[in-house]
Amino acid sequence: RAHGGGSSPRKPRLTVLSGPSGVGKSTVVAELRRSHPEVWLSVSVTTRKPRPGERHGVEYYFVDDAEFDRMIASGELLEWAEFAGHRYGTPRTPVLQRLAAGVPALLEIDLQGARQVRAAMPDALLVFLAPPSWEELERRLRGRGTEPADVIERRLQAGRIEMAAEKEFDVTLVNTDVKDVCRRLIALMTNSPS
Ligand code: 5GP
Repeated sequence: RAHGGGSSPRKPRLTVLSGPSGVGKSTVVAELRRSHPEVWLSVSVTTRKPRPGERHGVEYYFVDDAEFDRMIASGELLEWAEFAGHRYGTPRTPVLQRLAAGVPALLEIDLQGARQVRAAMPDALLVFLAPPSWEELERRLRGRGTEPADVIERRLQAGRIEMAAEKEFDVTLVNTDVKDVCRRLIALMTNSPS
């Protein structure tokens, strides 16, 4: 077998956590940060502004449009996508360094980004985070119901399309309990039984 071919059980591969917006990806990542500090989480660059409590270099690297353009042009991003009017991307080098060092690495990115990782790194494990039910996602997307009806309808339509992406993924985890999702995710990343 050629060097690098196949996947030995001890060599961690890249894991991608994705799923429809509103499903709770960032809650899972926050819990993982707390409970499994040994997992390396990729820090994305984004052109959106920090929310209260977000720190540069922890949740994201906050950059302006010019810097984001520069990173695309110089090939520094493994993948990038536009989401809700802002751009988000994964710096390539830190990911490759962690994988080479045998450190389990996780990307939490949107569905467009997950597809790009699939194309760039066929070995990656793609994990789809699903809501317990469509009704539950609908409830979350509707939020507090303060948005105009047409905005809500657009979000629901987007949610339906996003749910259809599940079949492109290797594994589905249903987000019923955040701690349980973390346990299963770690088991998948380390090839140990859950
Ligand atoms: P938020 O602005 O709420 O932090 O993130 C919005 C969306 O962008 C989420 O679905 C999140 O998964 C996605 N996202 C965060 N970082 C990246 C990235 O580096 N690449 C891609 N494609 N999506 C990202």
